[in-house]
Amino acid sequence: MSTLSVVLPAYNEELMVGKTCRVLHEVLTGAGISYELVLVNDGSRDQTWNEILKAGEKDPNILGVHFSRNFGKEAAVFAGLAQASGDVVAVMDCDLQHPAETLLEMYEKWKEGYEVIEGVKKSRGKESFLHKESAGFFYGIMSKATKVDMQNASDFKMMDRKVVDSILSMPERNMFFRATSSWVGFRTTSVEFEVHEREAGESKWSTWSLVKYAFTNIVAFTTAPLQFVTVGGGICFGCSLIMIIYSLVQYFRGRAIEGYTTTILLLLLIGSAIMLSLGVIGYYIAKIYEEVKRRPRYIVSKIVRGTNDVTENTRHDV
Ligand code: UDP
Ligand code: MG
Repeated sequence: MSTLSVVLPAYNEELMVGKTCRVLHEVLTGAGISYELVLVNDGSRDQTWNEILKAGEKDPNILGVHFSRNFGKEAAVFAGLAQASGDVVAVMDCDLQHPAETLLEMYEKWKEGYEVIEGVKKSRGKESFLHKESAGFFYGIMSKATKVDMQNASDFKMMDRKVVDSILSMPERNMFFRATSSWVGFRTTSVEFEVHEREAGESKWSTWSLVKYAFTNIVAFTTAPLQFVTVGGGICFGCSLIMIIYSLVQYFRGRAIEGYTTTILLLLLIGSAIMLSLGVIGYYIAKIYEEVKRRPRYIVSKIVRGTNDVTENTRHDV
């Protein structure tokens, strides 16, 4: 009998934890699947951890992982994957926006022999206009940069043990889960799902955090911006060649251009191009710096299985 682990990152989800566990329990037991729910409390400032403990009292299949502070969703997903012990592991949001029934569909696909089953959004669900537009814009950029279709991609996935192990073995600290799971390859298929509306609590994504997310992930996944710098430099060089020839010709014809404005404009233009490029390069260096520090991705302060504190006998920080 194979076991399904469901990884649920939770940040300030006190209103949803109990319900999510209940729904998953019903759906999975209903389908006769033996399961384990790995709830990662990502440094919530509300009662999420207590809710997880409470859910653990009702259901011994719940594994609660408590972070020492908020490390972000990617870290929480990674921690969940590291603690999951199932033969097949699903990752889904803790707010039931990813429908539990889709898990069954994914599970069927896994039974058929697929190793990565991606959840693809049919629509983005109800979001504010600004949020939708900005999300669309950044996912557009990210799709171009990472060559993975981000528009409808989601963090809702099911993966075989093999895939999980290969993701866990990647040494980088700044992981972009959504793209990495397709980067590793394996036999992949996708399942469409309708994004449900969040029932309680609110989205943790502000427009600003989406901007940061986009930049971090582009840098984590591709070096294309560095190539833009080179291409930009090439274009500037081409333009300057034309300008040089033009100026020289004018000079020898005895008609040197009056140059104050042109000089200032060029200086400003080139100055900002150089600073922008340095910024891009600097961003990569910052990321390299973060990686070489080899800090752990997250710090676990407590792990509870059902009602038992198993912190001591579990692998901690990867
Ligand atoms: N989340 C997390 N850490 C964070 C932010 C979010 O673990 O720092 C979790 C959150 O609890 C939820 C999932 O990531 O389970 C998706 O977050 P949210 O619903 O806010 O995002 P949205 O659905 O609006 O994209
Ligand atoms: Mg959500």
